[in-house]
Amino acid sequence: MRRNFLKYLSLTIFSSFILPLNSLFANTKKIINKNLTKKQKEIMFNEGTERPFSSDLLRESRKGFYHCANCGNKLFASTSKFDSGTGWPSFSEALPGAFKTKIDYKFGMKRTEYHCAKCGAHHGHVFNDGPTKSGKRFCNNGLCLIFQQLYLLILNTLLLVFL
Ligand SMILES: [Zn+2]
Repeated sequence: MRRNFLKYLSLTIFSSFILPLNSLFANTKKIINKNLTKKQKEIMFNEGTERPFSSDLLRESRKGFYHCANCGNKLFASTSKFDSGTGWPSFSEALPGAFKTKIDYKFGMKRTEYHCAKCGAHHGHVFNDGPTKSGKRFCNNGLCLIFQQLYLLILNTLLLVFL
């Protein structure tokens, strides 16, 4: 009984991150997470921007991964996160294949906008003034990200394997 419950629990937690990945793989913008807030939808599907210094993720420093809030795609490792002082969560590099980019000329500036490669949701802009070896600064809206702590991912994987 307890074993079944634990298995069910781990499947539920794990599938909330993994299952959405099976049903998307489209390059067109698509709302997959029906629980997105109005603000999240505005940023992800109308190229909006959250207020600077408004994201709780600015203070997040634990080890883990940052996923797309819409589709669960794994986008950044915590090791690439740094404090840019801009007020938005910033990363020196994205995980391979995480994003697709396009040039945007809003506000009279040429900027490179990036979108989740799997669901097409807008996440932010990437600049060439990063302080680390990559030279990149991914300036990401915190509302578009879900942080998953590394040890929870490992725990869930172990539960699935051994239960
Ligand atoms: Zn996505």
